[in-house]
Amino acid sequence: MQIGVPKETAPRERRVALAPDSVARLVKAGTKVVVEHGAGRESSFTDEAYSTAGATLGSAADALNSDVVAKVQRPSATEAGSLKSGAIVISLFQPASAGDVLPVLAQRSVTALSLERVPRITRAQSMDVLSSQSTVAGYKAVLIGASMMPKFLPMLTTAAGNIAPAKTFVLGAGVAGLQAIATAKRLGAIVSAFDVRPAVKEQVQSLGATFVAPDAIAADAEDKGGYAKEQSEAQQKRTAALLHDHLKQIDLVVTTAQIPGRPAPKLITAEMVADMRPGSVIVDLAAETGGNCTLTKAGETIESNGVLIYGAVDIPSTVPTHASQMFGRNVLTLLQHLIKDGAITINLEDEIAGPMCVVYQGQLRA
Ligand code: NAD
Repeated sequence: MQIGVPKETAPRERRVALAPDSVARLVKAGTKVVVEHGAGRESSFTDEAYSTAGATLGSAADALNSDVVAKVQRPSATEAGSLKSGAIVISLFQPASAGDVLPVLAQRSVTALSLERVPRITRAQSMDVLSSQSTVAGYKAVLIGASMMPKFLPMLTTAAGNIAPAKTFVLGAGVAGLQAIATAKRLGAIVSAFDVRPAVKEQVQSLGATFVAPDAIAADAEDKGGYAKEQSEAQQKRTAALLHDHLKQIDLVVTTAQIPGRPAPKLITAEMVADMRPGSVIVDLAAETGGNCTLTKAGETIESNGVLIYGAVDIPSTVPTHASQMFGRNVLTLLQHLIKDGAITINLEDEIAGPMCVVYQGQLRA
């Protein structure tokens, strides 16, 4: 069996689907891995590192002509047309917007596994790229915010006087938010956080941050999958009043709140921004799904009343070495689950592969 790793072609995508450490494990298990020349360059993995790991270097066509193709972003229509008939392709697909590619995959009798659809069960945690890449995003959001701020994050005691620590607020404390809290704490900020799910309060506090507005959390805020549900109108109003007050004293806000399959909840209004201190910064990690701040523009930094609002996009790609290493480990664990006796089989009854399968042997299932 041959696994192909083509170079990513999407704009601004600097990651690679398998880093050399994961390639080495596949090769050791008896799989042939073909990596496109330069596939790891943007992530600082040289062709030599892949050769040492046991991979064969080749062209894009060589990598695409494999039994299994591992990618970060879904294949373009051109790439899809170059896949081997009957191949399996594994990537982030964003199936809702993949209308141009999925029919091409179907025509080629391909099976496509969408990494966004790894079920959130304990057994599949190590295959979950949304979690691993959220960890990267939460970390980097704080660094981006810190570098946009006109202030220090830590408290400093110097001959030129004492500097008070900055106040950081993390809105939405799931995977990205908890990593943002930990990063801001390490940088010496005073950190507070809010989330609607009750389980989060203790997690926030165990990281040394204060949980804001514990009265606004609701016992029924979490669905069976561990995700947040949309708040009722009354809950939203209560939360808004509490957040409005809290934001007046904050220097750096990192927002991460998401509802699966829905636009991001609008939690910070223009009125709240108008009451924030000039020089404060909002890094909105929910920008790609509409933003948690009503003023957010995806991919842009805007200024309102002296407050900078950055609509963060493609953040994991800005930490490509470790983002790829973690992504690759997730893909490796998935492959280890799917490969039996040197061959890969997709069983639609399987509780992990079944929900991930958006095209099965040419049949559209998205
Ligand atoms: P996410 O990206 O969907 O959302 C980020 C956070 O925003 C969540 O914590 C959510 O509760 C919060 N949020 C939503 N609406 C909000 C609002 N109105 N106000 C404030 N916060 C709001 O979620 P995520 O970070 O990917 O994961 C959520 C949880 O799922 C994790 O904390 C974890 O417990 C669980 N999880 C489980 C697995 C697994 O078992 N395999 C994998 C990943 C995550």
